[in-house]
Amino acid sequence: MKYKRYIYERNYLSPIDRDVEVLNKVAKLVTTRKAHFCWVCRKTFPKNTAMVCERAFVDGKPGSCYTCIDCIDDFIEENEIIAEEGKT
Ligand SMILES: [Zn+2]
Repeated sequence: MKYKRYIYERNYLSPIDRDVEVLNKVAKLVTTRKAHFCWVCRKTFPKNTAMVCERAFVDGKPGSCYTCIDCIDDFIEENEIIAEEGKT
């Protein structure tokens, strides 16, 4: 990973439609315990992969999605949002 943990955990990439009510959204860098697909690149990653898990209540229902590290790196590079101190 190119950046420190907190960088991944603050760059929200959620696909959630802005017209819905989203509450308590959190993003966490996790090691997956089962296979998950990345909602950005649609690739499936095996368990024990580092991915960012986002959870929230969406219109009153709990939901979650996963994003792979490569997609977040791309997002960060496109948006140039990293200060030097966040780099590893
Ligand atoms: Zn991805």
